[in-house]
Amino acid sequence: MLAIALFFIGHWLLSVFFQTFFLHRYGAHRQFAMNRRWERVFYFATWLTQGASFLSPRGYAILHREHHAFSDTAKDPHSPYFHTNPFAMMLHTKNRYSDFVRHRIEPEPRFAGGYPEWERIDRIGNLWSVRLAFCAGYTLFYVAFAPSPIYFALLPFHFLMGPVHGAIVNWCGHKYGYRNFDTNDLSRNTLPFDFLTLGELFQNNHHKAGMAPNFAVRWFEIDPAYLVIRALAAFGIVQFAGDHREPKTQDAVYTASSAQPH
Ligand SMILES: [Zn+2]
Ligand SMILES: [Zn+2]
Repeated sequence: MLAIALFFIGHWLLSVFFQTFFLHRYGAHRQFAMNRRWERVFYFATWLTQGASFLSPRGYAILHREHHAFSDTAKDPHSPYFHTNPFAMMLHTKNRYSDFVRHRIEPEPRFAGGYPEWERIDRIGNLWSVRLAFCAGYTLFYVAFAPSPIYFALLPFHFLMGPVHGAIVNWCGHKYGYRNFDTNDLSRNTLPFDFLTLGELFQNNHHKAGMAPNFAVRWFEIDPAYLVIRALAAFGIVQFAGDHREPKTQDAVYTASSAQPH
């Protein structure tokens, strides 16, 4: 029981941490910089922790920049206001993501570039054989440690960890909660202490100031991933540009030319 609880919570938190820290705040927005060696370490860690549902930083960044540019309009890749349920929304998102990853469509130039790229990891991470090997690994862990077969009901969460997080953030973060800012979209802050997705559910704050690495704004809001990023900065692993406590404007969010060189 304890092993399963630790595995489930550990996989959940690590997977969502690398999504928000590496794919989102670093890859899509460049809210901070790091050298190439650390970029490779975190790229690899993102693949390892996301495993069966690994998302390539390029595909994620393009889709996410579209989300900021077209938030809650018909061109938003995942607005809850254009789909009847979270599953339909995530299926639509997945199809668009795959089109970019497989180069069936190309992004507008303003959404391209400025994200980390490691072709070999993307290729390996996208292989069905590798995704299924991760699924087999999760299943074997449950075979070894689950006290009863009922626990196997948790396995789909491991198989689809990334889409599960995506559904929670993109559905709830634009539908449920409070608003601090009158943004052009319908984004909301769902949880004042976002222990579920480590800060991603401060969608309203984030849409207001897309370049700010701290998604918490008011005194009672806590963004756990930002606390980790602060610690990484204290150790010199990442560097903030200028005063990171100053919210930056939305303008620089989704243009490749705004990316920090590294
Ligand atoms: Zn959003
Ligand atoms: Zn964003």
